[in-house]
Amino acid sequence: MLILDGKLVAAAVKETLKAETDILLKNGKRAPQLAAILVGSNGASETYVASKVKNCEEIGFTSLLVRFDETIDEASVLQKIAELNADDSVDGILVQLPLPKQISEQKVIEAIDPRKDVDGFHPSSAGKLVQGLPSFIPATPYGIMMMLEFFKLETKGKHAVVIGRSNIVGRPMSILLSSNIPYGNCTVTICHSHTPNLKEICLQADILVAALGRPEFVKADMVKSGAIVIDVGITRVADETAKKGFRIKGDVDYNEVAPKTSAITPVPGGVGLMTIAGLLKNTLQAYKTNTGI
Ligand code: NAP
Repeated sequence: MLILDGKLVAAAVKETLKAETDILLKNGKRAPQLAAILVGSNGASETYVASKVKNCEEIGFTSLLVRFDETIDEASVLQKIAELNADDSVDGILVQLPLPKQISEQKVIEAIDPRKDVDGFHPSSAGKLVQGLPSFIPATPYGIMMMLEFFKLETKGKHAVVIGRSNIVGRPMSILLSSNIPYGNCTVTICHSHTPNLKEICLQADILVAALGRPEFVKADMVKSGAIVIDVGITRVADETAKKGFRIKGDVDYNEVAPKTSAITPVPGGVGLMTIAGLLKNTLQAYKTNTGI
């Protein structure tokens, strides 16, 4: 059984991005810049944004963190996005989700200039992805594709089952795996909360992607022997014995599932790190397109 180590793959991706950035700087160009908007002080969101900013710095990108109070109104967030859209020094814009109730996530997503949509959530990016046109790929599925490529896990002709159909993970993942691209060409089944016989469908999977947000939902009796299992789930589960008072759990019961698989991502240390790699790659892509370099 191969452990799909996100740390290893993310480090390799970041090394390449850093080398490209070093060359840009050496040639007197400005660094790629990512702007992140964080509303409120949700613990998980704080951690994700801090990690994104830190990763930018590590590879020589600059970053701009815009913080708003939890009670901020929608118009102010949209106004800030408009400013960032107009700012030529900003290549990529991300708004950390979830947002407080008074702000429409959809409006915010659609307000971002598609040329700066490094999260790949804009309908324009999603539409291009569906049609197989060059676009920003949502960072998590993008990171998973990089992982499949890094470990040369053949996917052609395999049956992939994706649990979850969100716009940020499940749906784009299913599109990529079914596309006629390297590490695609799977026959894909996409499952959701109304799927009957989920266990039977999962048992048919050569590649199982769990992205439902239910800690340790996937048990050994749902996994075919020798399957590749990609665990996207990240849930904070309260645990008084842990230093921070919680532990991060994936959607897969790793201890019982791992021995049955041919390859599996751990949580933490798997897909989460690849998501940041995907975001950084998209940011460099945005920089190149927007500056013409
Ligand atoms: P989401 O928007 O809540 O979507 C969850 C999906 O799972 C929905 O399509 C839902 O079905 C389906 N689902 C829920 N319960 C189910 C069940 N019992 N059986 C079958 N399907 C079920 O979540 P998300 O944003 O895609 O995130 C999923 C998980 O990935 C979360 O734990 C999240 O924290 C994590 N995540 C991790 C990363 C990373 O970097 N590793 C990035 C993003 C998200 P319906 O559509 O029918 O409701």
